[in-house]
Amino acid sequence: MLTIGCHLSSSKGYLAMGRDAEKINANTFQFFTRNPRGGSAKAIDPADVAAYLDKAAQLGIQRILAHAPYTLNACSADEQVRDFARRTMADDLARMEYTPGNCYNFHPGSHVKQGVETGIAYISQMLNDILQPEQTTTVLLETMAGKGSEVGGRFEELREILDRVTLSDHMGVCLDTCHVWDGGYDIVDHLDEVLTEFDRVIGLSRLKAVHLNDSKNPLGARKDRHARIGEGYIGQEALIRVVNHPALCHLPFYLETPNELDGYAREIALMREHFREE
Ligand code: FE
Ligand code: FE
Ligand code: ZN
Repeated sequence: MLTIGCHLSSSKGYLAMGRDAEKINANTFQFFTRNPRGGSAKAIDPADVAAYLDKAAQLGIQRILAHAPYTLNACSADEQVRDFARRTMADDLARMEYTPGNCYNFHPGSHVKQGVETGIAYISQMLNDILQPEQTTTVLLETMAGKGSEVGGRFEELREILDRVTLSDHMGVCLDTCHVWDGGYDIVDHLDEVLTEFDRVIGLSRLKAVHLNDSKNPLGARKDRHARIGEGYIGQEALIRVVNHPALCHLPFYLETPNELDGYAREIALMREHFREE
């Protein structure tokens, strides 16, 4: 069974996301923990969470994926910006324990002229500050397009962060197909080689989720503009090979394509239609 869903709006709470997932035949989904531009999060409503957990069990919803606000920068040169990222993520991780055993994905950050080594040091330091031994949430570093001074455009950079995190059992990686393509990893003509490289540098056991997106730009463009499935440079056939690859097919896939619910429903149906059950 293919585990696939998309990014859903979290503004109406957990149960509403469960209902949206049901409408589009998704068995997982991603959501922002709070306004994607940061700011304070709505209080968790335990009754909403309980109703959602019932619904999720009934629908067979697998691991869901929370996404940190993308404006956080754990490796900013500005101490206050780093501190805001640390406090926001610590609060998100506390909230995640209402829905135990899921994943929390974040963009490592942009080092902005400090150099990638300084960026990596700040990011791992933050993770060492916020990870708790007893947490049930796995924190995922997202593979990035390498736009500007983004950290995480190379697998080696993610590996270096993981190496420096003490509670690294609580860490994993989320592979974004648009981002790796934009970062220069050719998943269209050399998917096997890219995954072998991922395994050599990071280890496939670290890979916990895939963001399934087409790209508006050619290989290596370092732009990060998502396209709908089949409307970009990666293309539908290559993305079908991604969900069917033996190293990936058991993972949850999350669409972050520019769509409303009906568009997501079509892309989910398309991927289910082309998924080969083992
Ligand atoms: Fe992301
Ligand atoms: Fe992504
Ligand atoms: Zn992106």
